[in-house]
Amino acid sequence: MTGASAILRVGENDAMSRRKTRPRTSPAPAVTAASPCPCGLDAAYGACCGRFHSGTGGAAPTAELLMRSRYSAFVVRDEAYLLRTWAPGTRPGEVEFDPGTRWAGLEIEGTTEGTAFHSHGTVTFTARYVHGGEAGSLHERSRFARHEGAWVYVDGDFLD
Ligand SMILES: [Zn+2]
Repeated sequence: MTGASAILRVGENDAMSRRKTRPRTSPAPAVTAASPCPCGLDAAYGACCGRFHSGTGGAAPTAELLMRSRYSAFVVRDEAYLLRTWAPGTRPGEVEFDPGTRWAGLEIEGTTEGTAFHSHGTVTFTARYVHGGEAGSLHERSRFARHEGAWVYVDGDFLD
């Protein structure tokens, strides 16, 4: 994908944020530090993605962990975290959460690069959700890059 198309697609190529339904009164799901982490790793939220959301764990060290923490940020509706882990060139002005969507699980299917030794990486995943009583899934290959030393989300391609 070219830089120009990446810019044109800002705000519409990220399915997790593309819904424009105005948030109403539905609260974010109750996730505490002791809850199982929404990202699916066998760890409590506070010791897993929560430490990145709060900043106490520093920045996610790999693209996969950033991907997981961004999924968890959609679950707990942490807009500030999503924005600060978004590449400046593709970052939207805001992230709107659809109160009718409940994220139901994340599976990481593959990664390329994205470790401490790399400056770019991809993560292929399926995120499951329930919207209006209907189960659905989002299958995407996301691109990540380092920005000022920390992994950020750049953009992604939907797969089938
Ligand atoms: Zn996690």
